[in-house]
Amino acid sequence: GKRLGRGKANYFSEALGRAARERMQLLSSLRAAFSAEQLSLVFQPQIELASGPVIGAEALLRWEIEPGRWVPPDQFIPLAEQSGLIVPLGEWVLRTACRQLHRLTERGHTGFRMAVNVSHAQFREPGFVSMLECVLADSRVAASQIELELTESVAMDHIDDINTKLADIRRRGVTIAIDDFGTGYSSLSVLRQLNIDRLKIDRSFVKELDGTHTKAGIAQLIIALGHQCNLALIAEGVENAVQRRSLLAMGCLEAQGFLFARPMPIEQLEDWMAAAVS
Ligand code: C2E
Ligand code: CA
Ligand code: CA
Ligand code: CA
Repeated sequence: GKRLGRGKANYFSEALGRAARERMQLLSSLRAAFSAEQLSLVFQPQIELASGPVIGAEALLRWEIEPGRWVPPDQFIPLAEQSGLIVPLGEWVLRTACRQLHRLTERGHTGFRMAVNVSHAQFREPGFVSMLECVLADSRVAASQIELELTESVAMDHIDDINTKLADIRRRGVTIAIDDFGTGYSSLSVLRQLNIDRLKIDRSFVKELDGTHTKAGIAQLIIALGHQCNLALIAEGVENAVQRRSLLAMGCLEAQGFLFARPMPIEQLEDWMAAAVS
């Protein structure tokens, strides 16, 4: 009994040690890839549901570790967050997204909205707003064409402090969406006080939509909440026409998802938009 127990404990601590070592290795390759400029952005179109035109796109980070082999962001973003690398990395994402937005504008795609993900660890940095201001000035894009996607975890900090920061950002014209809405733990009363523009309905609730009333539950509640609080709505992860129709019927006017397009490199996005117009 005892010997077996100790053996087991050793086994687990070795396994834990191995997992920790693997994370360290992945983090150091991520740092190396970041300095070697091996990270890139892809863009997923966001669509106006009723009539179909492209409103903008969400910028998503990609890491090609070797030709044809990608590390999913769900694996490396948490590492970047825990290690603080997310601060310079997030700035690079914002800068690159703004540069691409400027390029699109110059090529005649005016009024395009660029949505950029911002981690809580990045947002809570004291220098965040001045960094944002600096990037906007450098890239000469209109602040009103930038939307920051924050998750509900921002609401874990003191509400007055967050709202001061959010107000500071929105005063400059940048809009704020709460990403993955409904999956976090924030209370409705906190959410109601948040100084934001849009709720982004999480994919898990869009998945439920099968055209029946019974399954529409949470998406419907979020949409009602959005209307009640005067917030715009966008749905993520729309994969079929039934989901699209249900969302529209409930009053969600914008969406993104594989039904419309997968995330793609910027050159491809331009071709895609040209094809969508004609
Ligand atoms: P997210 O912000 O919720 O991004 C949406 C994810 O859903 C993307 O995965 C996208 O490819 C995927 N997706 C879009 N449409 C569909 C659909 O119709 N069906 C399905 N099944 N999936 C769909 P991706 O690119 O793997 O990104 C995963 C997460 O990594 C993102 O979730 C976001 O939390 C994080 N992430 C990605 N890029 C960045 C970044 O630049 N900064 C930060 N802080 N986080 C990022
Ligand atoms: Ca997002
Ligand atoms: Ca999301
Ligand atoms: Ca999501």
